[in-house]
Amino acid sequence: MASKVKSGLEDYSDKQRFNFDIYAFFEGGQELYFGHETQVNVNIVETVTIPLPNNGGEESELEKCYLSPTKRRGVERRTLIWAPKGNGLLGDTLNCGIPHTCSKAECPICRVFGGLITSTTEVEGENEKRPATTLIGRLTHSGGVAIQELGPEEKQRAMHPSMIRKPPESEPTPTPFKREYNQPGLLYPVYNHCLSMTDSEFSTVAYAFMSALARLGAGNPKGVKIYDAPLVREDKEEPWIVVDRYLAPLGKRPVVSPSITEVEEAKKQFRKAAFSVAGKEQEPTDELTEGNFQRYIGDAAIAKLSEYLTKFEEEALNNVDAETDN
Ligand SMILES: [Zn+2]
Repeated sequence: MASKVKSGLEDYSDKQRFNFDIYAFFEGGQELYFGHETQVNVNIVETVTIPLPNNGGEESELEKCYLSPTKRRGVERRTLIWAPKGNGLLGDTLNCGIPHTCSKAECPICRVFGGLITSTTEVEGENEKRPATTLIGRLTHSGGVAIQELGPEEKQRAMHPSMIRKPPESEPTPTPFKREYNQPGLLYPVYNHCLSMTDSEFSTVAYAFMSALARLGAGNPKGVKIYDAPLVREDKEEPWIVVDRYLAPLGKRPVVSPSITEVEEAKKQFRKAAFSVAGKEQEPTDELTEGNFQRYIGDAAIAKLSEYLTKFEEEALNNVDAETDN
């Protein structure tokens, strides 16, 4: 039998493909809750433990708050499913949701995030059954370990039991419970990586990334922003974000070591890498180009992402007239 050597990537587009990366610092504008596990009446936030290098002394470690990449990925995918499309939602238009992904190569969401149908499934409103499919995503998420070593804070909250749990005639005594929160002002370096995507596919990633900012976190409050501080110029605050578009990975990756706990040290490490291309440190500037490698930094990165946001709007959200016989 002949061996199968093809990747399995369905030829949906004949456009040039590139790799894309997004590197950014998120800042929590208020306390945030990213659940880890729920014990009896205590809601614990997710943390990670980082072993520190043993410099001849005693072994030590750090506990840090964590905005896990898998949670970020889930929020991003939902912002696409719930994106406005005419009078409805993009996911409903495509018949694509969570966990029931459509797993079709032509779906702008599944094409990028991947899809899985474990066994042949009948879907309401569809004539044909959906075959068992594995569509490999080409977008991956990483980072999320907070820079500052600032443990979670615990707060008392009151839950009002519903009628179902308590007879209506009994006294409405609130049930107290404790919930931990990630403290405000924590900085989270995060990274999104895209493998062999067309500009159109990356527009989906850009939309999901920017749209998820206001919606990260479980329950309320929610939301982060991209951290603002001088980046390219000393006298101008800019969002801490780098966007790369390339064939070969010539840029040094602005990834912050999780063992760093000082914000200034983390910023120094990020900044140094952001301005390093092909093994050389460059003069700080908004855009760096080396052959097919393009890097956009700060406001220039936001401007570049905005071009892709507009592209996504035009291609995926805005063609309302074509579908409503107006
Ligand atoms: Zn889909």
